[in-house]
Amino acid sequence: MIVETEAVVLHSMNYRDTSKIVTLYSRKYGKIKIIAKGAKNQKTNKFGSSLEPMTHSSVVIYKKEHHDLHLLSKSEIVTPLNRIQADSEKMFTGLALIELMNMVMHDEEENEQIFTMLVGSLKAIDAADKNSLNVLLAFMVKMFDQFGFGLSLEACVNCSRKTDENNFPSVLLRLSDGKCICPHCSPDLTSTGTKISGGLLKSLYYFQINSIEKSSLISFNDTAREDIISILQSFLRYHIDGVRTLKSLSLLHSIY
Ligand SMILES: [Zn+2]
Repeated sequence: MIVETEAVVLHSMNYRDTSKIVTLYSRKYGKIKIIAKGAKNQKTNKFGSSLEPMTHSSVVIYKKEHHDLHLLSKSEIVTPLNRIQADSEKMFTGLALIELMNMVMHDEEENEQIFTMLVGSLKAIDAADKNSLNVLLAFMVKMFDQFGFGLSLEACVNCSRKTDENNFPSVLLRLSDGKCICPHCSPDLTSTGTKISGGLLKSLYYFQINSIEKSSLISFNDTAREDIISILQSFLRYHIDGVRTLKSLSLLHSIY
């Protein structure tokens, strides 16, 4: 069956002398693996740079039923992302985003909303004048919502006190269900969770309710940024088996 779909390149590796095996996250078929024959050979490569990681491309594929590897026939870039490569924060954020997608998405499970969010996030990273890492953080918060284990940040789960009106110095975020417990209630409740400052809670809520494009409008100091990354990764690890620390994020830390 010949099919056409938009896709984002998640991973690419050389195969034999001239080919590449590429993992795509596609709009119509979710995560799929394709073989791109001749893609490694400069002279015969008809795919240009459309198979580089993070690229948003339009692809034509010979899709074989009951096979894990499909044959790429045609591929061209849809959205040029010209600024990502020139800035290390943008680049490692983009790489962390596709690493995350490759890690958490199952093969051949279509999710159009996640696909749209992924493309929007890559564009937002490319366009951001500062704080491009926030795009990844906002993507994670919104992905939790999509997966059905979204954070409930507005009010204490026990007494319903609003978290934004009470300016709590910190609340407990329960990893099991993403709900908050305020300082008035936490001494009585034995549930385990991770302590999160009122400021960070507000930032997470900001990411949840605003568009991805607006995520780079808020700034964190280094400590707050480390804390928020650590909270999001702990939450992800709690809900999805086999999640590793994002390698690209560790690389980003090492250059700061
Ligand atoms: Zn409470």
